[in-house]
Amino acid sequence: MSSEVVRFEASEEFARRMDAEDSLRSFREEFLFPVHDGEPAIYFVGNSLGLQPRKAKTYVLEALEDWEKLGVEGHFRGTRPWMPYHEMLTEQTARLVGAHPIEVVVMNTLSVNLHLMMVSFYQPTRERPKILMEAGAFPSDQYAVASQVRFHGYDPDKDILRLAPREGEETLRTEDILDTIERHGREIALVLLGNVNYLTGQAFDMAAITRAAHKQGCRVGFDLAHGAGNLQLSLHDDGPDFAVWCSYKYLNGGPGTLGGVFVHERHAHNKALPRFAGWWGHDKQTRFQMGPDFEPIPGAEGWLLSNPPIFQLAALRASLELFDRATMPALRRKSDRLTAYLEFLLDRLPPGVVRITTPRDPKQRGAQLSLRFSKDPRRLLEKLNSAGVHCDFRSPDIIRAAPAPLYNSFHDVYRFVGVLERHARD
Ligand SMILES: *Cc1c(COP(=O)(O)O)cnc(C)c1O
Repeated sequence: MSSEVVRFEASEEFARRMDAEDSLRSFREEFLFPVHDGEPAIYFVGNSLGLQPRKAKTYVLEALEDWEKLGVEGHFRGTRPWMPYHEMLTEQTARLVGAHPIEVVVMNTLSVNLHLMMVSFYQPTRERPKILMEAGAFPSDQYAVASQVRFHGYDPDKDILRLAPREGEETLRTEDILDTIERHGREIALVLLGNVNYLTGQAFDMAAITRAAHKQGCRVGFDLAHGAGNLQLSLHDDGPDFAVWCSYKYLNGGPGTLGGVFVHERHAHNKALPRFAGWWGHDKQTRFQMGPDFEPIPGAEGWLLSNPPIFQLAALRASLELFDRATMPALRRKSDRLTAYLEFLLDRLPPGVVRITTPRDPKQRGAQLSLRFSKDPRRLLEKLNSAGVHCDFRSPDIIRAAPAPLYNSFHDVYRFVGVLERHARD
């Protein structure tokens, strides 16, 4: 991706020039920034909660007005009828994650979707009971996995294999992941990795991992909470069985909004898969005949349970339109540069102030850099916050900074490192 080499400079003028040459710079105006001292804050927590797109309010109000004027008829009439509302997001979502439309659906929230997918794709047997995941997986994923293992009558202590970095290293090596899959594959029912890892910012080689796991007869799923809207994904071609993500991080859909699900096309017509069913996943032609037998919609939509919350879909629509206009390849190119520029400026700070734990290889990361400081990181974070910088702290000692290419600028990065320099010293 970073085929074009840019020679970075440390001056403010250089940051301004990079912004002037940025073909995506106008997207910044589509977002509402928190304000600090009369200026837009330096917002580097788009990996936690993305900013509000200006259009979100318009679309939510539009749905509220339809409800006001039409009542239940809003399902079929009005500006955007609610019946097929979620379908408006399907093609954009498919382009966003490199999938076919039949493979994706926007529904529920991430942890809920992870459970639904494990119901279908974690089928342990006595010979093959295990789940392979990261030792450093997001806590909700660890709880979900342990509870599924227990639900099937197996033992989380024995039946969850955890990938940990080598002694003295902070991130995983692809070769070690592949080697573990090869050595233990016959006992593994499901390989489940987060991409990118929320704490280290490390991105994994999804195609290689999927290939290795399928060779051993394992099912493969990815948690893309930090991948959707951040990495350039090609889910269909990489071939995992499923993926799940939330839409409030890089996707700017708003707090607690609906997540997304990918189910590979090879499962689209498989009615024999175990699944938890609900009426919204039932064949659209016969849904309102209210019959007793479930007939799944082919593809990911067949996993829908309930009729979806329209206001959340409305806000998310505003953001997905922007992603569709910007396109992931262009965003990824900018993101690569933005993060490399952050890395360049951090490397110029006096020795010992900060250590970057995210991989240096651009192919092994997205927007986020995870930083370790020699001084008390919590106090440092407080100082950054009061200087108008939004980034966050994750236990035990990591400050995460994620310039989001859709709305962050090179000048944001320049200002961020300036504030950091002033405060990391004292
Ligand atoms: C953010 C995040 C979650 C949060 O789950 P919700 O169900 O949306 O609250 C779960 N897993 C990972 C890896 C995350 O990054």
